[in-house]
Parts: sequence; C-alpha cells; structure tokens
Amino acid sequence: MRILENYSLQALNTFGFRVNARYFVDAVSVENLREAIAFASTKNLPLVPLGGGSNLVLSGDQEALFVHINIPGKKVISREDECVTVTAGAGENWHEFVRWTLSEQAFGFENLSLIPGSVGAAPIQNIGAYGVEIKDYFRSLDALDIQSGELKSFSLEDCRFGYRDSIFKQSARDRFIITSVSFALDARWSPRLSYGDLQQEAERRSDGSPDAFVISEAVSDIRREKLPDPLKLGNAGSFFKNPVVNEALLKKMQADYPDIVAYPFEGRWKLAAGWLIDRAGLKGFRQGSVGTYHKQALVLVNHGGAEPDDLLGLAKHIQSVVRNKFGVELEMEPRVY
Ligand code: FAD
Ligand code: NAP
Repeated sequence: MRILENYSLQALNTFGFRVNARYFVDAVSVENLREAIAFASTKNLPLVPLGGGSNLVLSGDQEALFVHINIPGKKVISREDECVTVTAGAGENWHEFVRWTLSEQAFGFENLSLIPGSVGAAPIQNIGAYGVEIKDYFRSLDALDIQSGELKSFSLEDCRFGYRDSIFKQSARDRFIITSVSFALDARWSPRLSYGDLQQEAERRSDGSPDAFVISEAVSDIRREKLPDPLKLGNAGSFFKNPVVNEALLKKMQADYPDIVAYPFEGRWKLAAGWLIDRAGLKGFRQGSVGTYHKQALVLVNHGGAEPDDLLGLAKHIQSVVRNKFGVELEMEPRVY
C-alpha cells in the first residue's frame, strides 16, 4: 500500500475541482484501511473515506488523508423462494452492482440504476430515486471504527435510515468506514412505477408488461436525457434536498402558486426543490463558470474552470432567492469538505 503526498483529487470529485489532498491512498482491503487509520493517527490528521466523489464539494486543498475505498467483491449469499441475499464490497461501482443483481435474478434496485458512486457510500445518505431507497432492501453492513479499529456490524435499525439520511450523517458522522453492504432483494419481480416519467417510459417500451431489465434501461435513459454526465459537465446531482413543510405553509404557498409541486410525506408535504428554483427564475441561470442545469434546476454545474467558492457562492444566492420568494430554506445535499 503506497501513501501518496499532495495528490490531485480532480478526477475523484465529480465537480472536477482542482484540489489536492495532503495524503492519499487507495485501499483494497480492511487490512489496508487499518494501516491508513494508523498513518492518519501518527500524522494527527483526519481520515476521509472517498468513493466516487459524486456527493461532495471539496472547498480547497485538504489537510487530511483521503482514502479511496476500493474493496472489491460481490456474491449471492442465499437464495430462497421470496428473497435473494447478496453482499458487495464497498468499492464496487453502484450501477454495475445493480446490473449484476438483475443478472442474478435479484430484483428491487432497477429504479436505482445509473446512480453514480460506490456501494459503500450508498448507505450514507440512503440513496433513493423513483420511489425506491436502499433501506427498502437493506440487510446489514460492516464498518471499521476509525477510533477503535474494530469491525462492527450494523443492522437496518442501527443505521437509522431516513430521507437521504442515516446515522452516518448524524451521530456516527466521521466515525466509520463502510467495508461491505448486504441486501435482501426480491426473488420475484414487481414493478414500482409511481413516478410519472418512469411509468410513461415503461409503458412506451413494453406494451404494458415490462420486466426489471426494461425498467433499468428506462431509468438509465431518462437519467441520461435529463441529467448532465459529470465527465462532460461537472456536477453532484441534486444540490439541495427537497424541503419538507407543514400543511399550513403549503396552503399559504398554494394560494400564491396553485401549481406548486408537493407530495405527501410522513404527515407533512415534500416540495420539489427543482420546481422552487425554476419558479424563482433560476433554471439555466449562469453566474460566471457555474450555473444551474438547463433541464433540471436542482443540479448545479461547473461549466469549466470554476473554483469551489464560485459554486458555494451560487448555492448561497439560490438559497437566498428561494428564501425571499417562498419563505423556504434549502438545505445542501452534498457534504462540503
Ligand atoms: P462520495 O461522494 O465519494 O462520498 C460521499 C460521502 O460518503 C462522503 O462524506 C464520504 O466520506 C462518505 N463515504 C464514501 N464512501 C464511504 C465509505 N465506504 N465509508 C464511509 N463513508 C463513505 N443520490 C441519490 O440518492 N439519488 C440519486 O438519484 C442520485 N443521482 C445522482 C446523479 C448524478 C449525476 C450525480 C453526480 C449524483 C447523484 N446522486 C444521487 C448523489 C451520489 O451519486 C450518491 O450520494 C452516491 O451514493 C455517492 O457515492 P460516492 O461513492 O460518489 O460517494
Ligand atoms: P422528477 O421526477 O422531476 O420529480 C421532481 C421531484 O418530485 C423529485 O425530487 C421527487 O422526489 C418528487 N416526485 C416526483 N414524483 C413523485 C411521486 N410520484 N411521489 C413522490 N415524490 C415524487 O425528479 P428528477 O429530478 O427527474 O429525479 C428523478 C428521481 O431521481 C428522483 O427520485 C430524484 O430524487 C432522483 N435523483 C436524485 C439525485 C440526487 O443527487 N439526490 C439526482 C438526480 C435524480 P424524490 O427526490 O424524493 O424522489
């Protein structure tokens, strides 16, 4: 295992910011991780686990040890009438993992096709799309405690998954490195087509009886059409979470904006953050080398050569415009380092 110094993270963050890590290492095993923890401790530096870099903003050079989690492996653990249990190393690419589960006749993650990043990062924000979240099929995960060096197993309950949230963003933040994740997927497929775009696309492709592969392709094609490819236009997907508001505030907003997009959510209402930004006149907005994507205002993009401060300045501007217009606070989804 080679620890590199002053390593460029430009190819390892999907905004493409030109930022260096003081130290960097590629870890392919738990043993590598233990060595990395020991190294960071002797240098008295924080250790930052890194997957695909698709949900973070590197705000400048990093006085830390960045550990690229590259632990491989995926296998079927058991196959029963209703359920196929699978496990994967944290370094596996999420989309390739999803395609592999389908090839193993293990269903459920087709709606999460083409989400960038790694298996190990998926539990951090309980990734979700098109009405499915990983918590729906989660079995357990193993994670290395950075403080004690012990490997600990987390159950569904332990992870305290919420909407784009988990214990790893809250009380266990910065404490664990996820090394592998196990899921209990469906042996028999049933479609989850509550999202309008996906339902229409599925119908168009399958004469009304799609299978999981058709759905995976449909999701991938919708995403390719609607979202910018980070290799061509730097971005981290949705930049803000959808705000959740109470009934009284929604009613007040509906009086001014009858076409506001809102969905029932755990006794309250989830507003589409993209709609708020769009209605505030900021879809396709450009401020120097950063802006909002012209097809989805919730995605902030680096048009080329932007600095992290340009992006963070744009984020503040959007938050302030939306606050002033709607009285709603937008919370950033990617983590800033
Ligand atoms: P990174 O960005 O590398 O890391 C994110 C955070 O997790 C960091 O804090 C990091 O320290 C931590 N971390 C990473 N790996 C580990 C590990 N093994 N152990 C402990 N901590 C770790 N998200 C969705 O939920 N739904 C979507 O539909 C979606 N679509 C997207 C579309 C695009 C075009 C893009 C660019 C992003 C999208 N995202 C989406 C966000 C992102 O892809 C996910 O959050 C993904 O899980 C991040 O994975 P990553 O490996 O890139 O994590
Ligand atoms: P969309 O379909 O245009 O929908 C806009 C918003 O409305 C979404 O945020 C979604 O909430 C919500 N929504 C739509 N239909 C819904 C329904 N039937 N029930 C409940 N909520 C509904 O969104 P999009 O931008 O094209 O994205 C499609 C999916 O991919 C969404 O699930 C989105 O979260 C996900 N995605 C996530 C990221 C990310 O970085 N986090 C990036 C791109 C896409 P939800 O977001 O809660 O689903």
